[in-house]
Amino acid sequence: MDAARDGAGDGPAAPRRPAEPLPWQRRFASDMLARRAGWAHALLLTGPAGIGKRRLAEVLAGGLLCESPRGDGSACGECPGCRYAAARQHPDLRIIEPIDVDDEGVAKPVDAIVVDRIRSLIDWVQVTSHRGGSKVALIVPAERMNPAAANALLKTLEEPPPGTFLVLVSHQPGRLPATIASRCQRIAAPRPAPAEAAAWLAAQGVDDPDRVLAQAAYAPLAAIALAGVEYQAERASWLAAFAKPAALSAVTLGARIDALPRESRKEGLGALIGWLSGWCTDLARVRFGGAPLQNRDMAADLAVLAASVAPPALFRYHRAVLRARALLGHPLQPRLVAEALLIDYRNLFGR
Ligand SMILES: [Zn+2]
Repeated sequence: MDAARDGAGDGPAAPRRPAEPLPWQRRFASDMLARRAGWAHALLLTGPAGIGKRRLAEVLAGGLLCESPRGDGSACGECPGCRYAAARQHPDLRIIEPIDVDDEGVAKPVDAIVVDRIRSLIDWVQVTSHRGGSKVALIVPAERMNPAAANALLKTLEEPPPGTFLVLVSHQPGRLPATIASRCQRIAAPRPAPAEAAAWLAAQGVDDPDRVLAQAAYAPLAAIALAGVEYQAERASWLAAFAKPAALSAVTLGARIDALPRESRKEGLGALIGWLSGWCTDLARVRFGGAPLQNRDMAADLAVLAASVAPPALFRYHRAVLRARALLGHPLQPRLVAEALLIDYRNLFGR
């Protein structure tokens, strides 16, 4: 390992900044890093999508890999360890995510983290630390490991070599095998207060942060993705269709999913499912005398529809929408799933 260390010099010459915690994570991250001696060697970082769990995991990894951490345990940002980590070239850091790199070096998203990826992670775990400090592996999102991959990880999760930390990140920990979850110390990632999230979004240049935050169920990183003009136009057109179920053509709308480039169709279906789910929640809220939460701009349409929907049927439908969401990681035909969901939606108001 000395050869690797010698060859490493002082780290890459043009460093990017190491991962900084988001404002609502600062205190949490430094508290955690200060208590690092008490950590289990396998952590499961949970919380809703879009609150910055991955960022937090990278911050924790950065603190562990820093070679001269600050008094509060956070990364110094200057040492070779920090510079390697910032450049994503740290030999003692592995990030496992559902991305495949093809023969030409082009990365593309894939459905699952497969067993080969985990086997190579295990080989890496067995090797002595290159820079003589901690070794950290992030698995993001952990629920995308397929069953064989999860199985392969079990033993390592139970007894990683000393100084090795495995950080699993998941917004759907219920989809992880119990054998995996039970071997990890579960940590709930902090969420921002709505005002804090809105202030952060405004600082990122997002117009009308309260509106997009509400649409994103108060997950600020999800809200950023929603803030784009194109997204808003797409949302408005789908919601207009939901608002007039009698006129809704599932076939015409399903064709819009097929009109997307092949690699984006699943994402398009995911967006549709998100809108349908938020729409169902708002219909239920309005039906029981509340105000819409995610679709305040559609309050008038929601009021009309809510009066004509039977709550048990609406709840059943909403559960079906959520089941469809859980299946997004599996092979499926986005257009057919969209059509089925839209036909069932229309039928909610059919009598
Ligand atoms: Zn450092």
